[in-house]
Amino acid sequence: MKCLANHVKVDISTLKGVLKIKKFDLAIIGAGPIGLFAANYAQLHGLKTVIFDSLNEVGGQPQMLYPFKTINDIPVYQAITATNLITQLKKGLNKDTSIVTNHSVTQIEKRNEEILIDDKYSTRSLIIATGNGAFDPKKLPLKLDSEIEKRIHYYVRNPKEFSGKTVAIFGGGDSALDWALELSHFSNIVLVHRRPQFRGLESTLSKLRQLKNVKIITPYLPKQIQIEDNQLSVTLKRMGNTYLQKICCDQIVVAYGFKANNRLIRKWGIKLTDARIAVNSSMQTNLPGIYAVGDAISYPGRVPVIGVGFGEVQIAINAIMRDLFPEKTLTIHSTSM
Ligand SMILES: Cc1cc2nc3c(=O)[nH]c(=O)nc-3n(C[C@H](O)[C@H](O)[C@H](O)COP(=O)(O)OP(=O)(O)OC[C@H]3O[C@@H](n4cnc5c(N)ncnc54)[C@H](O)[C@@H]3O)c2cc1C
Repeated sequence: MKCLANHVKVDISTLKGVLKIKKFDLAIIGAGPIGLFAANYAQLHGLKTVIFDSLNEVGGQPQMLYPFKTINDIPVYQAITATNLITQLKKGLNKDTSIVTNHSVTQIEKRNEEILIDDKYSTRSLIIATGNGAFDPKKLPLKLDSEIEKRIHYYVRNPKEFSGKTVAIFGGGDSALDWALELSHFSNIVLVHRRPQFRGLESTLSKLRQLKNVKIITPYLPKQIQIEDNQLSVTLKRMGNTYLQKICCDQIVVAYGFKANNRLIRKWGIKLTDARIAVNSSMQTNLPGIYAVGDAISYPGRVPVIGVGFGEVQIAINAIMRDLFPEKTLTIHSTSM
């Protein structure tokens, strides 16, 4: 008989995977404002928590889509910029909360009392706070070489980086107008939109129209980008005819919006209603131990605002505490903790 021992292959990668599984009381998918508040509230209740985001930074829609805008309807803050709100929400988190960015959660698997996430993380409870789903900026549909790509931006993190430059901004929604206004403090702006009307706020547009360093070109679409004399030379085509014009700029910001999708959630076996997650009055999904909050969910009368999401987090985490520690008397008020 052949000695089988010589032929037994140990799959080291599987073994490593098993050995490396990290255990948590709570996992949160999505580090937008609602997921971040959930992490803070979980920490207050003493839960060991991990929070994931598919992007390379936390903050969701406020941080990605309108960082410079002032929000006036967050309880307690009379006015706070979106980016400051996210900074405040991050500030509260300590070592009991692990933040994992650049990680799009693709797989969740319920195994008796635990939920396994992407074969690497095990958790006793889960909150889905994925908003509109993992979002990706819609790319400029042109073939570009890598030198040009380096000068094309899909987010504006630090407006001062554009100081003294001429920046072309493509798009007609709120983000395009907000970025144009913010960057106009530091740079010359050429705002290009394919329609005569903008979708963004009229009040922002009229501020832009009054600025001498902002030029607005409509209805034009970028057709070709080349480098000439170390500047970007952009050929614009007028919509509806063949008329072409050229503009020169140093950098381009593309604000064509984001593609969001909730395909993964369907795959996880979670019931949806109106393409969003269905929850009961405790914010629990159809799967026990799995809760959902924020813009990811739908129920009659829900309004997609941050304050509402914060309230949903408190409901969900109190329910999770009851699930995880049925023997304990739950302390609901932070003043009694
Ligand atoms: C222009 C604009 C202005 C607004 N102004 C206001 C306002 O003044 N006041 C107000 O209250 N609300 C405002 N809102 C709405 C508010 O931003 C949203 O209600 C809020 O962001 C919802 O938060 P969320 O955490 O549920 O989702 P999001 O902010 O969408 O965050 C979800 C996060 O989950 C991540 N994610 C998704 N899928 C995965 C996955 N599979 N794995 C890992 N991560 C994942 C995403 O990358 C994202 O970071 C505004 C929205 C817009 C677009």
